[in-house]
Amino acid sequence: MKADLLAVDEARRRLIGGMVPLVAAEDIALDAAVGRVLAMAVHAEADHPSFANSSMDGFAVRAADVAGAAMGKPVTLRVVGDAPAGRASPITVGPGEAIRIMTGAMVPEGADAVVPVEQTDAGDRSQWGALPDRVTVLRGEQTGANIRPRGQDIRDGDAALASGKLIGPKEAGLLAMLGYDRVSAIRKPRTAALATGDELRAAGTRPEVGAIYDSNSPMVSALLVDAGADVVRRGKVGDDAAEIRNWLDAAVEDGVDLIVSTAGVSVGSYDYVRDVLMKYGSLEGWRVNMRPGKPLAFGRYREVPFVGLPGNPVSAFVGFEVFVRPALRQLAGETGWQRRRVRARLAEAVESDGRESYLRGTLEDAADGSGPVARLAGHQGSGNLFGLSQSNALIVLAAGVQSMEEGQLVEVWPIS
Ligand code: AMP
Ligand code: MG
Repeated sequence: MKADLLAVDEARRRLIGGMVPLVAAEDIALDAAVGRVLAMAVHAEADHPSFANSSMDGFAVRAADVAGAAMGKPVTLRVVGDAPAGRASPITVGPGEAIRIMTGAMVPEGADAVVPVEQTDAGDRSQWGALPDRVTVLRGEQTGANIRPRGQDIRDGDAALASGKLIGPKEAGLLAMLGYDRVSAIRKPRTAALATGDELRAAGTRPEVGAIYDSNSPMVSALLVDAGADVVRRGKVGDDAAEIRNWLDAAVEDGVDLIVSTAGVSVGSYDYVRDVLMKYGSLEGWRVNMRPGKPLAFGRYREVPFVGLPGNPVSAFVGFEVFVRPALRQLAGETGWQRRRVRARLAEAVESDGRESYLRGTLEDAADGSGPVARLAGHQGSGNLFGLSQSNALIVLAAGVQSMEEGQLVEVWPIS
């Protein structure tokens, strides 16, 4: 590695180390809390399920009564009641008796097993209407069969969710199960996304020869939202130190927790972002041993964490995934965040210049069921967004690796 380049791990460690997790919590509706980090520890305050209930539609019985039931040796029981879901049965199951029961209904006193309707003569749909007087059990069940005992899922007092957990769909379901409709959650990080470059034009205008549309700020904003942030300011400025400063000052006045810019951090004559950072804040890292994405700069602008991604759109995308996403999760207060990684077989040989490489590719399951397979997709140029759009994964080659053969196992990051 060239001596003046930071190793990716070292750069990421430094960058994440500078992120002080947010603590400001709000009491908000559960629906609104999805995508935020839980700011309280949640314990079960009852057993769940809170009563023994049936996991099948069928008949609640005494297992001993039906123990002998088998093909050709059916057992007929008297049906003494009906137990739909939602209310406790007032009737007890005595010897020789059964109560018709639905999934989720409380198991009546006296019963210790549920015989599924399919194992009875009521299994025929046409007879599954009015409550029958009798039911013939064709096949018996063991004690406890098809009964979900009280406390099977979680017990009174047990830890359900730790503070610092991201509230996703399954956590929302669990919190609702435990009776919460409001929770204490950490606010999403407030972020600003800035594109820099004299060549950038807004949509709706016709770029003259030499000019281009700004694709980075829409892409980076979308990445920020995808990574769990609010984007409170977004814009573009030219390659001009004063313009850059004015914009960053406005972002600081907005009270943002993180500023992400693109371009202007290379060694070109018009690259002012790094200069502004050094002069009015601090530069904590610059130039990383990766491909694409080498000209990354990060630090603080007036005390606000700042990441300057490269200008090439694919480099900006990769830099976001490698550095900004984990930094944001740290800022958001999430504990134990981990990127989803897949070990996949290479469908073709790949090459690198020895920098840590993030090749654009596709990840798919092998047709023969032998597991995930990765191959290159799209033109690999760091300016080629169409090439990136043809990929669904980044193929990661460690620093020092010059090539890998078809069939070798490689680390792959699925991307959204
Ligand atoms: P720079 O980092 O300023 O040297 O820019 C590197 C490359 O990225 C150049 O080809 C720029 O035109 C391009 N670029 C920079 N910013 C953007 C942007 N916001 N949208 C699209 N391309 C950009
Ligand atoms: Mg430029």
